[in-house]
Amino acid sequence: MRAPTGPQRRAANTRRTEWRRAGEPSVVDAARAQTLADEAGVRLTVEPGGFVSLARLALAIEQASGPASWAGYRTHTHARSTGTLVVLVESAAQGLDTEGGAYTLICDAHGTTLAGSSSVLRTYMRHPEDWCDECREKWERERA
Ligand SMILES: [Zn+2]
Repeated sequence: MRAPTGPQRRAANTRRTEWRRAGEPSVVDAARAQTLADEAGVRLTVEPGGFVSLARLALAIEQASGPASWAGYRTHTHARSTGTLVVLVESAAQGLDTEGGAYTLICDAHGTTLAGSSSVLRTYMRHPEDWCDECREKWERERA
């Protein structure tokens, strides 16, 4: 399984911090974990009887809920050409450099970014092989 990249990890950390502020312990039992997942509006089945750390639970919720909870989220697509998730966000909201443009495309699988205007980036969303080197390599391998 691939490691989660920046925005997803940050969203998970934010969620965990909110729980900790609300007084949750670092590790919760399965029943509490299920309640927290339900409260987040995510369909997640927690193994009964066990314990789960808040860090793991927050990440699982982010993975199950998709990129809509990312800071500055605008839209996303699963590119058919490479099978990768591509997300359009507001650069500033993600703490990214805004010099190249107010918006940024993120290849979730490889963490590659492309800055620009919203209208231009929307035309690049479906073809990450045009701007993400690792997607291009994958795309070329699969066509070979
Ligand atoms: Zn990529």
